[in-house]
Parts: sequence; structure tokens; C-alpha cells
Amino acid sequence: MTSLATTSRLLQLATGIGLATALLLALRQPVRAEANVGATAIWLLWWPVVPFLALLAGRLWCAVCPLAGLSDLVDRAARRFAPWRRRAPGRRVQRVGAVWLPVAIVLLGIAFLALELEMSGPMTIAVVGLFALGSAGMALAIRGRAWCRYACPLGATLGLYASLGRWSLRPLSPPAGPTETPSGPRLFRCPAYLNPRHSIDPLHCQFCARCLDAGAAQISPRRPSLFVLGTGEAALAIALAGVLAADTLRMTPLFITYVGAMLDILGPAYYRLVVALLPLLGTLAAALLVGAIIVSTRSRDWRGAAAALVPVAFAAQLGLSLQHLAGSGWPTLQGLIVELLPVPWEGHLPPSEAYSVMPFLKAVQFGLFAAAVALVVYRRRRTQGLSGNTGLATVSAGSAAFAGLFLLPMSLAC
Ligand code: SF4
Ligand code: SF4
Repeated sequence: MTSLATTSRLLQLATGIGLATALLLALRQPVRAEANVGATAIWLLWWPVVPFLALLAGRLWCAVCPLAGLSDLVDRAARRFAPWRRRAPGRRVQRVGAVWLPVAIVLLGIAFLALELEMSGPMTIAVVGLFALGSAGMALAIRGRAWCRYACPLGATLGLYASLGRWSLRPLSPPAGPTETPSGPRLFRCPAYLNPRHSIDPLHCQFCARCLDAGAAQISPRRPSLFVLGTGEAALAIALAGVLAADTLRMTPLFITYVGAMLDILGPAYYRLVVALLPLLGTLAAALLVGAIIVSTRSRDWRGAAAALVPVAFAAQLGLSLQHLAGSGWPTLQGLIVELLPVPWEGHLPPSEAYSVMPFLKAVQFGLFAAAVALVVYRRRRTQGLSGNTGLATVSAGSAAFAGLFLLPMSLAC
């Protein structure tokens, strides 16, 4: 029977072929479609779907991610010709990763908003290429998947959402020594530097399935909860909430008001700078919100407050993904079809300034924020170290701020 790890590798190969095809399409100008179909297929179809996988199990996407396959491939090849490689990341890598991940989320937000990543073939190739270079390069320097554990902003975000996933892995047996066992077929190495025989942190588990095949772990249902976050993870949660707030604002008519007001101050030549500032301002606003709550609740637990922002950020990302799919899903598919197949085509995509209110979609989006508040209300006392009022105040204020934006009409184009 095919092992789960082999199935994961085959799926990585399939997604790798899909990604390579999208990048080839991103290289050429559209002939009949109205946008670069390679870029739109990646950012308007794949990107909004991935967060929904986290509802099943946090970093489930990592099980089929082609860049994890690339990392494994380089890792295996480098065993022969790169004897200088470190066995595991040192403290410096861990510290740099803790700073890099929040910065990377903000940079990604800037790329989306100011550089029109969603529509730009060259930008899409550059971003995916950087990720691939990082994945392969770090595998050349350190054994395992160092990129996935310490540098990939997507994986780190999905790791935060793992607190809300339905399933995770847990050790099958009591702690039984180091990860590598001497017993032939049960020998395995966790590429995420965990010790699955002892404990499996859902923040970092990449579902490579090696520990499952070795009989060291099992798939286990879990209740949504809040994680206790480290400093870097808490900073990431704040940056993520800020970038998502900027992206939400971008979808509403407030964006035009913001750009108009800023251009009046800075001058019409600074459009990209004005838009690039938005994710930074969003992150600042999220940090100020956490600071205000810490002061008002007389708590020092800023990391607990950041943990309570995670369900809010997840609700916002799912709500935005639904908005993107509702607005751009079909036009993007249409673009792909007319570009690749000889079907008759006289249509056009909806205008980018179209705003609309879809009552059912709004109801789902508000339901997501209500679920975020309910989760913190019911689970905060079980979260070690999180004082009651801090979590509640953060999730309430964060959800109210996002709900205020989602109340507005939203763009049907991204
Ligand atoms: S961490 Fe990033 S690169 Fe690694 S498998 Fe997950 S999504 Fe892919
Ligand atoms: S804990 Fe298991 S499934 Fe998760 S990354 Fe490590 S070996 Fe793979």
C-alpha cells in the first residue's frame, strides 16, 4: 500500500505541475483574456481557497505544497555533496525567523496592494521565484525544511490558524526517546525539527506524514482553542491582523477616500507610496489596539491579546476570501478558459470600481466574526496565561473594527 508520505509527495508533484503551468501562463501577455491568467489563477483562485484548508487542519496545504517537495528534493541531494550543512537551525536562525515573519507578512501585503501582484505576471514570477529560492537555498544550508519552519509567511499564517483547525496530529505512544529510532522501517526524521514521539506542535507541523507512516503519531480530532504564542508568533499575529485590515479597507469605498486625502497631502505622483503605506498603517493600528487593551485591562499579557487576535484575523481572511471568490472567481475562470480553449468570447470582466452588497455573503462574514468572539468567550479560561478580560476585550474590539469595514459595500473586483 502506498504510504501517506508518498501520497503527499505525489500530490506535491501534481501541485508543482499546476504551479509551473500557471507561471508559464504568467510569462506571456494575454491574447483574449482581459488580465494575466497565470497571475490571476494563482492569486484569485488558489490563494483564497487555501485558508479554508486550515479549517480542517492548520497547515494542511503544506502536505501538498510543491515548495516543500522542492525543499525535500534539495535536502536529499545535498546529503551527498554538501557536507557543510547544519543538522538543525541554530538560535540565530530562530531569532531571525521571529523578526522576519511579521516583516514578510507586511511586505506581502504591500506587494498585493501597491504592486498589483494579483494582476502582474512578472511580479507573480518574482514572488514565487523568491519563495522557491528561499526553500531550496535554506535546504542547502540546513537539513530539513528550514524555510518552511522559519521563513515562509504563508506556512506561519496557516500555523497560527491551526489553533482553529478540526484535526491535528498527536503522538501515538508515550515519549520514547529521540525522533530517529534504530528500528529499520520506523526510522524517520521530522523535517520541521519536532519530536513527534514526544509532542507535535500544530503551529509547526507540516503534515509530511512521516511520523504517521512510522507509527509514531495519529490523526486526532481537536477542539478549537487559543495557542500560547511566543514573541515572534505574537508579533506575526498582530502584523497579520493589520495587513488583513488594510486589505479589507481596500475593498471598500473608504479606500478611494483614503487615497484621495493622502494624494492631496503628498501630491499625485505618490500613488504607489500611498497604497504601500496602508499595510504599515494597518499593522500600526493593530499594535495600538493591543497596546490600548493591555493598558485598559492592566494586563502585561500582550502575547495573550495577540493570540485573541488570531480568530479575528482568521474570520477576516475567510470573509475576504469569500468576497474575492464571489467577485473574481468566475471572471478568473472565464479568463483561463478563453485564453486556453478556442471557445467563442465576446464578454468582459466587471469594472474594477463596482461595489455591491450581497446580503447572504454579508451574513456569512458577520457569522465568522461572531464565531471568533464565541470561541474566545468559551475557550479563554483554558488558555494558559491568558487573563480573562484581555482576551475578551481584544476579540471584541478587533471583531467590531473588522465588522465595521465589512458593513460597507465591497468591491466585486480585487
Ligand atoms: S511552509 Fe510555505 S513553502 Fe513550506 S510547505 Fe508550507 S506553504 Fe509551502
Ligand atoms: S510532526 Fe510528523 S507530520 Fe508533522 S512535520 Fe514532523 S514528521 Fe511531518
